Amino acid sequence: MSTTLFWFRNDLRLADNPALTIASETAGAMQPVFLWCPLDEEKWAPGAASRWWLHHSLASLTASLREKSSTLLLRQGITYRDEIQKLFRETKATRIVWCDRIEPAWRRIDNEVATLCNELKVEVIRVAPNLLCNYQTHLTKTGKPYQVYTPFWNAFHAQFASSMLAQAALPRTLPMPVEDVFSLPLDALELLPTVDWASGFPAVWRPGEQGAQENLARFLANAIFCYDDERDYPAIAGTSRLSPHLHFGELSIHRIWRECETLLNDLPLETATSLPPHKVASSAPRGNIVQYQKELVWREFAHYLLWHFPHTSDAPLREKYARFPWRSAPEDLRQWQRGCTGYPLVDAGMRELWATGWMHNRVRMITASFLVKDLLVDWRTGAEWFWDTLVDADLANNTLGWQWTAGCGADAAPFFRIFNPTTQAEKFDPTGAYRNQWQPRESFAPMIDHKWARERALAALQSA
Ligand code: FAD
Repeated sequence: MSTTLFWFRNDLRLADNPALTIASETAGAMQPVFLWCPLDEEKWAPGAASRWWLHHSLASLTASLREKSSTLLLRQGITYRDEIQKLFRETKATRIVWCDRIEPAWRRIDNEVATLCNELKVEVIRVAPNLLCNYQTHLTKTGKPYQVYTPFWNAFHAQFASSMLAQAALPRTLPMPVEDVFSLPLDALELLPTVDWASGFPAVWRPGEQGAQENLARFLANAIFCYDDERDYPAIAGTSRLSPHLHFGELSIHRIWRECETLLNDLPLETATSLPPHKVASSAPRGNIVQYQKELVWREFAHYLLWHFPHTSDAPLREKYARFPWRSAPEDLRQWQRGCTGYPLVDAGMRELWATGWMHNRVRMITASFLVKDLLVDWRTGAEWFWDTLVDADLANNTLGWQWTAGCGADAAPFFRIFNPTTQAEKFDPTGAYRNQWQPRESFAPMIDHKWARERALAALQSA
């Protein structure tokens, strides 16, 4: 009897998973497998908060597979190629299916495994990543990759507006798994921290497919209709909080897009408008939904950029910023990481991050700007801290966010536009509710005078 391996990576769901559907179309056995070889992922192997999430997501996936009479095989090792080779030997698999990833290390890994399959004459089926856009063919009229968001969105929208993307049917039962193959227990992967700094996470998050679907349903029932009006206020639960679920592929992006399109189609006619989507008044329900779709397309743009410019996770896209005179300031960095800068909104954000593994987007921009511009610390240092502490740490989105802040990426905020953490707090946390919730009990004097720091940053820009 023939055997297919289904390799779960960052698509930890059963529903609307086209790769899983393809793998399940077999008369033989189908063995789902998750491999853990962090060394092979080099510098950007999952950080501590992501590992916490991964542990719980795998537990949830194992339970869902069991309900469908299947199992999840867990293995760990040094390289993915070697582990796959061992599995081919043990299971006699003749076919392997996976969903591609766009991160540079994963592109190398995928090519290595594909070459192995070629050598061993194992059939490989590689399915497109959990993205809406075809990153290889979505190009400007001159055949180059987009580097500005608005034309990217316009071209994207012309292609995707109102299109209902087909749902990959969820198999009612999965083909039987392979018998007598050794699997590690989940705890053996040692994904959970030894010192339990993540004790606050379970109150905020439910990793796994079910938690993702509940979050989506909650958001679509309510907050999406005021999304554009409320998304910038960190004290309000105005955003979807789907980012970790999306990063781990617990939810299909096609499903979210379809749900948005259904809401748009169901809106009463009087709220419909003939204006192009980017000009629709934001307070109308339609405008709020379209704004949410635009945010989803920022995620597309981020993945698209990392695919076309793979060096940007570690180097600025705009080359002139390679010469920027960043400071080495470990004590300043520590104060920022611990939320002891003396600027209440910055400190509140850094402490929300520590306590929950997540930070509101507006506050991410403000805390990142403070590190890069007020403290003149290299954006890569900040990106590494976020990488380790965010449950939604995502190489494409994190790179875009930090390069946007540091002014050195595609369509980035110019470096000379410097957030004032005090006026930002007055504007986006006018009642102080967010600061009161997260800022430290003890108050600190500001570690640096913002006006002076601003002048220093502008002088550094001049010198670069
Ligand atoms: P919503 O507002 O509900 O948006 C829906 C989805 O759209 C998000 O889940 C996310 O997948 C996507 N999205 C929204 N905004 C952006 C954006 N600006 N760029 C790319 N995708 C976006 N997002 C991550 O997922 N992982 C990261 O590691 C990450 N690091 C960031 C670092 C910095 C410095 C900055 C400024 C932003 C970063 N972001 C990152 C983007 C953004 O802050 C988060 O995606 C968002 O806050 C997640 O909350 P949400 O799901 O409620 O977002």
